[in-house]
Amino acid sequence: MAFSVRASSSAHLARNVVSNARSSLASKRSNGMGKKVSQSIPFRFQSMSSTSRKSSVTVQAADGPVCVVTGASRGIGAAIATQLGAQGCRVVVNYAASSGPAEEVCKTIKASGGDAIAVQANVAKQDEVDALFKAAVDAFGEVNVLVNNAGITRDTLMMRMKLAQWQEVIDLNLTGVFLCTQAACKIMGKKKPVKGRIINITSVVGVTGNAGQANYSAAKAGVIGLTKTVAREYAGRNIQCNAIAPGFIASDMTAELGPEIEAKILTTIPAGKYGQPEDIAGMVRFLALDPAAAYITGQTIHVDGGMVM
Ligand code: NDP
Repeated sequence: MAFSVRASSSAHLARNVVSNARSSLASKRSNGMGKKVSQSIPFRFQSMSSTSRKSSVTVQAADGPVCVVTGASRGIGAAIATQLGAQGCRVVVNYAASSGPAEEVCKTIKASGGDAIAVQANVAKQDEVDALFKAAVDAFGEVNVLVNNAGITRDTLMMRMKLAQWQEVIDLNLTGVFLCTQAACKIMGKKKPVKGRIINITSVVGVTGNAGQANYSAAKAGVIGLTKTVAREYAGRNIQCNAIAPGFIASDMTAELGPEIEAKILTTIPAGKYGQPEDIAGMVRFLALDPAAAYITGQTIHVDGGMVM
């Protein structure tokens, strides 16, 4: 069965640049079921052990790469898992608490020709990360792609930020990426030839900073540095590591901002509109599966409607 990649045309919205929106940012939520995509283009799945684009092969549904997506029960992670599943990938849908939504994501993936299991794990904790990757290997035998997507916000101004608010965000948004990357690389390194792709979801505020988000912007900046280091350490072993920096993505959070703040945010986005979770998922799909991405590593790709450039 031949695959096709559905290309998204909608632009991305950057998040968090209007300082008076910071109090509303405390309860960020993304809707993972945004707009449907508009265009189909041919897609060839290539063995990731080769950089030759001539060696592409067509794979059967549910026989594609094994992809672990953290925080895939909702929002951007759900969109990523769904798009990878629609390419015939075998997806590990990680979640912290939302078992029902995670199972729904699995059902959607199976209905579209992929395979999936839902695995509860707090990826800020090493023993739970170990259990997550053991579950992946037990179910599918290997791990080819890791998407470090799980993230939280605990926003407040520097002067008011408690150590616990700082630590909680660093533990998940940065240490969680380290733990999952280490676990995935161990598994990727066992099967010869070694191959793998790691995609980290950072944020434009990891580049720009943002009032009210000292913890979050520090963690996301850390993810960019970690991405470059992993890329350097593993490039010679055929494991690529890249980051995606979303801008302002349409979500429950953006819905909460109200028309006045939204109007201010939109003036900062050249594209003049919010992005959708599917826009981030489309870039993940490219970096994770497309033969054309085989020579890209250590990069942070902004998907933000031109907000940061
Ligand atoms: P959501 O809040 O919509 O979803 C967060 C996901 O992470 C859920 O699946 C949640 O699981 C999971 N999660 C939370 N805590 C943990 C944990 N300890 N261990 C494992 N999973 C956990 O987030 P978004 O979709 O908005 O964001 C996804 C990523 O994109 C984050 O890294 C975020 O920082 C980044 N980002 C988002 C932007 C936006 O505008 N939305 C902009 C820039 C970056 P459960 O449902 O079980 O709680």
